[in-house]
Amino acid sequence: MSGVEVFDNWIDGAFVAPASGARMPTSNPYSGEVWAEVADDPDAVDDAVRAARRAFEDGPWATMPARERARLMRTLGELLTRDADVLAGAETRDNGKIIRETTAQAKSLEGYLDYFAGMTDKIIGQQIPSPAPNFLVYTERVPKGVVGAIVPWNSPLALLTWKLGPLLAAGCTVVVKPSDITPVTALMLAERASEAGIPPGVINVVTGGASVGAAISSHPDIDKLTFTGGGPTAKHVARAAAENLTPAVLELGGKSPQILFADADIEAATNGLLAGIFAASGQTCVAGSRAYIHEDIADEIIGRLVDRAGQLVLGDPSELTTEMGPAASDEQRDRILSMIDAARDEGGTIVAGGVVDPELGGRFVRPTIITNVDNRCSIVRDEVFGPVLAVMTFRDEDEVLKLANDSEYGLAAGVWTNDIRRGHRMARKLNVGTVWINTYRNVSYMAPFGGFKQSGYGKDNGIEALDAFLQTKTVWVELEGITRDPFVVG
Ligand code: NAD
Repeated sequence: MSGVEVFDNWIDGAFVAPASGARMPTSNPYSGEVWAEVADDPDAVDDAVRAARRAFEDGPWATMPARERARLMRTLGELLTRDADVLAGAETRDNGKIIRETTAQAKSLEGYLDYFAGMTDKIIGQQIPSPAPNFLVYTERVPKGVVGAIVPWNSPLALLTWKLGPLLAAGCTVVVKPSDITPVTALMLAERASEAGIPPGVINVVTGGASVGAAISSHPDIDKLTFTGGGPTAKHVARAAAENLTPAVLELGGKSPQILFADADIEAATNGLLAGIFAASGQTCVAGSRAYIHEDIADEIIGRLVDRAGQLVLGDPSELTTEMGPAASDEQRDRILSMIDAARDEGGTIVAGGVVDPELGGRFVRPTIITNVDNRCSIVRDEVFGPVLAVMTFRDEDEVLKLANDSEYGLAAGVWTNDIRRGHRMARKLNVGTVWINTYRNVSYMAPFGGFKQSGYGKDNGIEALDAFLQTKTVWVELEGITRDPFVVG
């Protein structure tokens, strides 16, 4: 394994080798080569939590002037932009996402940190009306403390920064666990945080697999968990968190519907459907994986989708012209193929793709479109996390609303119509956390993002995200004399 880079954990402002010496490889899904090795030692979580606790209790992070915290966050953002190409290159090497997207994501991080830096000096309590003239009652908004942040592999830096922005603004410190598939860029971010002047112990990164994640979720000295990943893992996290009554934000998967009415702009809608499912090879939580197309336009739209899916440029994700990269791992590819097989067994017709690309082989599943399925089929109910679109038809608005809401998930939905009233009616009735009308996949640091139902609870982004990392302390001051019976509460 010559040329393999070795990375230690990042704890208390420095790289620290795992005491056990245990390590795991990380490979490039396009070439299959192992390019780095990282620590995989759950015992390191304890050290990282201690460092984060010290940094929280002893300061200066939580107590420094708000504008100073903001300045350090903004400096980190600038350094991430400065090094966006390096970060994007590492991310593409790790998860096989096309370089255009990883570069755009790396360049977006500064905006997230800047937005939440702007909140540091707007964290304010309230003066509460006094129940008697001689009392002063007020609240303070104080940081939760030490946060455990566990993130997935599909947009590692972006999803981590969605969490870092609000938790750093609140004055919290953090132990991060990146995915075992994409461990490196979180370490790169932590190094740049140190260069920015963010004190040691504020951001700690412990790499590794499920045992490291489990050590974080069950750690009694973590005050708040924030997790992005799959539902089955989230249940482990939530159960472990419950043992310590640790509150958690859970951002989970989806099976998001895209609804096309007959009056939609057909070209825009077709583009939206294609990008919604095939961007990042379908490996996005918001993948629009269920298409409901009005029966009057279904044949035309399916024809267009099949044509365009066949023309997508698959290949080396580090090439600027590539439109779709590989699945991020062999396990992921196998899961996608087995779900396509199940759809076939349940009567589905594969009208595009359905196979590993004969020329690229390996981990490239061709953009896949499946018809002759309905809401009872597993391909319509279960998250694939791959380039697989299930297409169904509908007759009217009431019918499609029922079909779209008939899912255990509730992350997002797309509606394509030129009837403005219908668009808003649908938005009101769709039981999901985000609705896109005549667009798809937009996210912003300003817009709350998070799912309903089995897609999770709590929000990333927007003002609301800050609340997860703050708690309210109420202070009573008796300004003069004893005015009441101290043995009576009320
Ligand atoms: P995953 O659930 O397998 O892993 C997520 C993280 O949890 C990883 O860091 C993993 O190492 C860790 N982990 C694994 N076992 C653990 C355990 N027992 N205890 C604690 N942590 C553990 O998810 P994934 O495959 O990395 O990511 C794909 C999933 O993430 C999909 O379901 C996708 O929809 C979801 N996702 C959701 C959002 C969102 O914002 N809603 C965004 C991106 C991805």
